[in-house]
Amino acid sequence: MSERVDMAVVGAGAAGLMAAIWARRTAPGRSVALFDGARTLGAKILVSGGGRCNVTHHAVDETAFAGSSRGAIRKVLRRFDVPATVAFFRELGVELKREETGKLFPTTDRARTVLDALLVAARGEGVVIRNPWRVAGIEPGFVLKSSAGAALDAARVVLATGGMSLPRTGSDGGGYALARALGHTITARVFPGLVPLTLPHGHFLCALSGLSAPATLEVRSGRGRRLASFTDSTLCTHFGLSGPAVLDVSRYFIHARFHDPDARLVANWLPGSTVESVDDALRGPPPARFLAARLPDRLARTLCEAAGVTWSTPAHQLTREARRTLARAVAELPLPVTGDRGYNYAEVTAGGVPLAELDLDTMESRRCAGLSLCGEICDVDGRIGGFNFQWAWASGYVAGIGGAARM
Ligand SMILES: Cc1cc2nc3c(=O)[nH]c(=O)nc-3n(C[C@H](O)[C@H](O)[C@H](O)COP(=O)(O)OP(=O)(O)OC[C@H]3O[C@@H](n4cnc5c(N)ncnc54)[C@H](O)[C@@H]3O)c2cc1C
Repeated sequence: MSERVDMAVVGAGAAGLMAAIWARRTAPGRSVALFDGARTLGAKILVSGGGRCNVTHHAVDETAFAGSSRGAIRKVLRRFDVPATVAFFRELGVELKREETGKLFPTTDRARTVLDALLVAARGEGVVIRNPWRVAGIEPGFVLKSSAGAALDAARVVLATGGMSLPRTGSDGGGYALARALGHTITARVFPGLVPLTLPHGHFLCALSGLSAPATLEVRSGRGRRLASFTDSTLCTHFGLSGPAVLDVSRYFIHARFHDPDARLVANWLPGSTVESVDDALRGPPPARFLAARLPDRLARTLCEAAGVTWSTPAHQLTREARRTLARAVAELPLPVTGDRGYNYAEVTAGGVPLAELDLDTMESRRCAGLSLCGEICDVDGRIGGFNFQWAWASGYVAGIGGAARM
């Protein structure tokens, strides 16, 4: 006879750990086992936030997310909000501090603190953690089959297998096949989000590798309609662009390109200005003085060069046309994006199981009784800044208590 548990949680990332902890807290008499295919648990938590784990953001609401409908996302986020997250981690012995940007990190500045606290909490609640135990198939009913040939019966299953970003951590998209086999659909498009973008080899911005400056990045449709816009630091790299503004805008740009091959990305290096206002401002001072006062020197010189304006041009020698070209390079620079850096460099996956297929009071599947889903496997992706973890904590919490209440 094969082993049997009341609830099997597949995936011991942020969402799965949360679901397992709250399932046991809700139904302490029931057995909860947490399975993960990875040899090292929580690898993604450990690398998150540059090794510091940006646990959440002080102001989280549905407007920071994309994918499923905002109303659906809000419904889940409200069940476990930021104060609840802060209180939960405090109870686990992890104090969070808020930085100027609004991001919350552990006071230790170590992601390890967060992972260890979650693992101790899960084991303390009586969750049995099994790894490496990769779930290769789930038969309705449920029978879990491991890739090593083991089998296990479970009355309920929570799928928390994440997306496809950073596949070497174990989140390689295998969970989508499990969800599909149990009756779910996956959005037509699944693609990297929060991902650096590439520019043509030799583009003048690549030569500025290492330089970071504030910019507004705007996605425009082929007809010029503004589709998305983010203002934050933009980092020039040897392959193209990275930094918070680029990561935030990336999923909107990639998504726009699926539907509109003429969609484009433009940069404004003086956020708040327009081509007209820069053009006006350039009428008085020499271009070099105007730009040097507002932009990093290397960027100022490069934009001048790209506009065909010699750095030392005196104001009275700047033709109307040259002034306009320079104003465009500063306030509306087209970025000829050639692609993105892919899942190995993406912090999140856009697309997944639509929330419309779940009962959001419990995260239980509407397609398969006894199955719940939470975390990044769902069609929800957030901005940079702690939003994706907040989604994992909130949806994991709802799946954990929702599933346990039905055991
Ligand atoms: C480099 C990087 C930095 C990030 N930094 C931040 C940050 O600071 N703040 C923030 O909010 N977000 C951050 N994110 C995003 C955040 O880490 C994820 O959104 C979040 O971890 C998703 O949690 P999850 O539990 O849904 O999935 P995951 O964390 O991906 O966990 C899924 C787990 O399921 C396991 N698994 C997959 N398939 C199977 C299977 N078939 N059988 C058994 N186990 C399986 C995997 O091994 C994995 O452990 C970052 C992401 C990356 C890649």
